Order: sequence, then structure tokens, then C-alpha cells
Amino acid sequence: MEKYIPLYIRYLIAALCGGLGLLMLFWRTGPNLWIGVRLPWTLADRQIWDKSWRLASIFLTGMGVWALLYWRLFFVALAHFVVLAILYPIFLYWRKYNTLRFWKDVGWVDYRPVARCRGCGHWQKLPNAEALAAARCEECQMPFQEKGSQPLARVQP
Ligand SMILES: [Zn+2]
Repeated sequence: MEKYIPLYIRYLIAALCGGLGLLMLFWRTGPNLWIGVRLPWTLADRQIWDKSWRLASIFLTGMGVWALLYWRLFFVALAHFVVLAILYPIFLYWRKYNTLRFWKDVGWVDYRPVARCRGCGHWQKLPNAEALAAARCEECQMPFQEKGSQPLARVQP
């Protein structure tokens, strides 16, 4: 494989991947239309967006390094990058909301989360990701919680 690809292509790919990866490591931005892991599940939840962004930036930086040092590992990293960049946010979303459903309001990026009750299986639209912590199931009143998270201490007024 190495001999078919001219060295300047490798330098170019290294510069592109490494540059973009480093840029993404230091410059964090919220959901947008142009750059990042743009899936409904990342657009609906800023936390999941940020985690996917971090994973993508680390992968891209690594791919830039591999393109220079060891070309074959670049393709291994590329394949993992494509799969993981999609699976990772889906996994995070599933763990947090117990469903992969989402809902969409007006516009292009206005995706919002849907949570599924762990008690009765009821699906409930949430206005945003932050609402999950305080939300309760409309059917059985059980609070929605991320799997494995400690129940929040509720202070009674
Ligand atoms: Zn319920």
C-alpha cells in the first residue's frame, strides 16, 4: 500500500487530520451544522455532543500522527474512527435516556431528547437534555435517571 501513495499525500493527510484534531482539542464549540459528530443523538444532548467531539478530536490527532509514522495504522484508525464516532454517541444516548428515540422541533439542528421510563416503559418528550435530571414519568411518576447515576438528594421546600 505504502508504495502506491506518494509521500506528499501522506504529509497532506497528516496535516489535515492532525491540524483538525488539534484544533478540535483546543477549540470546543456547541452543536452546529458544519463540524463535529452530527447525529440526532448528539444534536439533542450537549453533553453527548461534547464527549463525541473529544473522541473525534483525539482520533483525528492520532490519525495525523499515524499517517506520518506508520501508514497502515492510519487506515486501522480511520476504520475505527468511522464506526466509533457513530456508535459512541448512540451508546451514550441509550444509557442516558433508555431509548434511541428523539424528537425534532423546527429548523435543522433543533433535535430534542426523548426519555423512556425505566419503570413502565413510557416514552416522554423532554424540552432539552438538562430537563432529564428533574423530569418524572407522566405515567408512573418515577424520576428519569441516567443508568448508574446516584439518585439526586431532593430538598423539600
Ligand atoms: Zn413510568
